[in-house]
Amino acid sequence: MNTLEFKVEAVRRPNVDVLVVGAGPAGIAAAVSSARNGAKTLLVERYGYVGGNLTAGLVGPCMTSYSLDGRHQLIRGVFEELVLRMEANGGAIHPSKVPANSAYCGYITYGHDKVTPFDAEALKWEAAAMCQEAGVDLLLHSTMVETLTSGDRVTGIVVAGKSGFAAIQAGVVVDCSADADVIARGGGETRTGRDSDGLTQPMTLFFRVGNVDDDAVETYVRQAGETRPFASVIEAARAEGRYSIQRRGIGIYRTLQPGVWRVNTTRVQGVDGTCVDDLTRAEVEGRRQVQALMSFFRDRIAGFRDAVLIDTAATIGVRETRRIAGVYTLTLDDLTTGREFDDVIALCGYPVDIHSPTDAGGRLEEDPTANVYQIPYRVLVPARLDGVLAAGRCVSATHEALAAIRVMPPAFAMGQAAGTAAALATRYGIAPRDVDTRELQALLRNDAAYLGDR
Ligand SMILES: Cc1cc2nc3c(=O)[nH]c(=O)nc-3n(C[C@H](O)[C@H](O)[C@H](O)COP(=O)(O)OP(=O)(O)OC[C@H]3O[C@@H](n4cnc5c(N)ncnc54)[C@H](O)[C@@H]3O)c2cc1C
Repeated sequence: MNTLEFKVEAVRRPNVDVLVVGAGPAGIAAAVSSARNGAKTLLVERYGYVGGNLTAGLVGPCMTSYSLDGRHQLIRGVFEELVLRMEANGGAIHPSKVPANSAYCGYITYGHDKVTPFDAEALKWEAAAMCQEAGVDLLLHSTMVETLTSGDRVTGIVVAGKSGFAAIQAGVVVDCSADADVIARGGGETRTGRDSDGLTQPMTLFFRVGNVDDDAVETYVRQAGETRPFASVIEAARAEGRYSIQRRGIGIYRTLQPGVWRVNTTRVQGVDGTCVDDLTRAEVEGRRQVQALMSFFRDRIAGFRDAVLIDTAATIGVRETRRIAGVYTLTLDDLTTGREFDDVIALCGYPVDIHSPTDAGGRLEEDPTANVYQIPYRVLVPARLDGVLAAGRCVSATHEALAAIRVMPPAFAMGQAAGTAAALATRYGIAPRDVDTRELQALLRNDAAYLGDR
């Protein structure tokens, strides 16, 4: 590599017990849980607000927090608390009220029962308020750029921002960056993509459309009865050479505001979310596709004739990058058999959802999981590095298993477990890998997480 050495001086900021990097669903839950369990906690985020894909990515709704059959709510705790707070202020609909095949879940049935529609502005505020009430210190506009280590132990991070560089030391760092930035820069082992060729799921730039005739969309979808809305319109246009996006059907999700829909349809393949050149290309290509889609929608999609573009997300959505190599790696077999783990920290029911890295296809129903499957604590713990845990999209799982647990409710559940474990590790002065998982489970249950009936 062609490198240039230069001198960097970092200001020292006060030490903390637990330092959480990344304020997406995993990071919010980790920070709130760590602080509530008595640790002096700092939450570091590169953007000017919390939420990650919930806000900056305009991603939504939150996929199911229920079992695959939609009968039992599995993910509760911090996630449920946040949803109820938003709902009380008109910023969300509780998943118990949102059936499969409705406009809120994109008219999809399999695995899409009991999703959570929410408003990104409500989330920005309620999640930040929950952090503050729990006693979390927030450090926004700060990107983690380096990991401080002593031997095989992570001791802190360096952040960069308008104030320059700052070093922060911590008892435990929780890597909720979604890209395993802390663990990768600290020398921990990571893996990326499919076993066969390393390719990852494609990126998608979300956007919101207003002035849609909701009733006309509903009437068309109910009459057409397609497995994906507007799939036949897309295929006809593709055959005419008028549609080139590598995706079947249109992902449209009704929001809380009449006439306003989220669109999950652009697709950029062959790009690496940890490479700024690829991210730059993907952002520009994503916005080119949005322009093309808007004109196509007005022309060919029922209910969209007078549609207007409200906004595109602040960042393109990255579905998959690095996963840590952990003490245990969750597999597809664990999900399909519903394998039970002594160190279970979360129960989930969302299916394996793989958007093809190479063509217009996707896999949602091909690898049916058990109705309820488990996530063990060991997938949060790096195989070798100490002083650090991972939560959210970068935990230790195969490409296929991650495709199920990557969605936002499981990210909250893993974050809650990681934050609680980090607080326990600092309380007892032990490594996160040595945390007593029975004590961790008791604390999680006490904080309203659901780990199964005793
Ligand atoms: C296109 C797309 C569609 C999706 N659709 C859905 C859906 O409909 N429903 C659903 O539930 N899930 C969906 N998902 C999955 C889901 O959004 C993510 O997998 C989930 O957000 C992961 O949570 P996280 O907390 O691990 O990461 P993120 O939400 O990505 O949050 C990571 C946070 O870390 C911050 N960060 C990263 N690096 C640094 C750094 N070095 N320093 C400081 N801060 C940093 C980021 O700014 C961000 O705030 C979708 C994902 C994508 C990309």
